[in-house]
Amino acid sequence: MQIQDALAAVDALPQTCLKQRSRLYASKPLGPQDQPDFVNAVCRIETELSPWGLLEALQGIEQTQGRIKKRHWGERCIDLDILLYDDLQISDAHLQVPHKEIALRDFVLLPLAEIAPGLLIPGKGRVDVLISQLTETYVIPLQTDQTNQPGVG
Ligand code: ATP
Ligand code: CA
Ligand code: CA
Repeated sequence: MQIQDALAAVDALPQTCLKQRSRLYASKPLGPQDQPDFVNAVCRIETELSPWGLLEALQGIEQTQGRIKKRHWGERCIDLDILLYDDLQISDAHLQVPHKEIALRDFVLLPLAEIAPGLLIPGKGRVDVLISQLTETYVIPLQTDQTNQPGVG
C-alpha cells in the first residue's frame, strides 16, 4: 500500500533511517467529502539531511509514487509532510516547521501522541494538551499490532 511504500522509500533515503512509526489511522478527508477516507500515519526518522533537503527528498518520493492532485484537499496517492524537525522553528517561502496545521489536526496529533506521548511541539504546546483541545475527532486506528511490520526499527 502507498504508506508502506512511502515509509520504505523514506528509510531508503541517503543518510536517513526510519526509527519509529505509528499505526495507520483512517480519517475523514478535509475538503470534498465525496472521496474515500484518508489513511494517515506519522513516523520518526534520524537524518543528516537539512530540513530543506528532507522536503526535497520527500517531494521526490511523492513524484515517484505518482502523486496526482486533482483538486485542493482532494484525493491523491500520497502526501508526505514534515511535522517537526528537532525543536527547530522554520518559516520561509518553502517550509514551515512545525507544520502550520499540526496543532489543529486530529489525524496528525493522535498518531503523533502514539509514538511520542508528552511531546512538546515548539510554539504550540504538548501533544496531549492539544488533543484535549480538539473540538471533534474522527480518527480510527486501523492496526493494533506493530510487530512484524517491515521497515521498522
Ligand atoms: P497542508 O499544508 O494543509 O497539509 P498539503 O500537504 O496538501 O496541505 P501540498 O500541496 O502538499 O500541501 O504542499 C504545498 C507546499 O507546502 C509544498 O510545496 C511545500 O513547499 C510547502 N510546505 C511548507 N511547510 C511544509 C512542511 N512542513 N512539510 C511539507 N511541505 C511544506
Ligand atoms: Ca499535508
Ligand atoms: Ca504536503
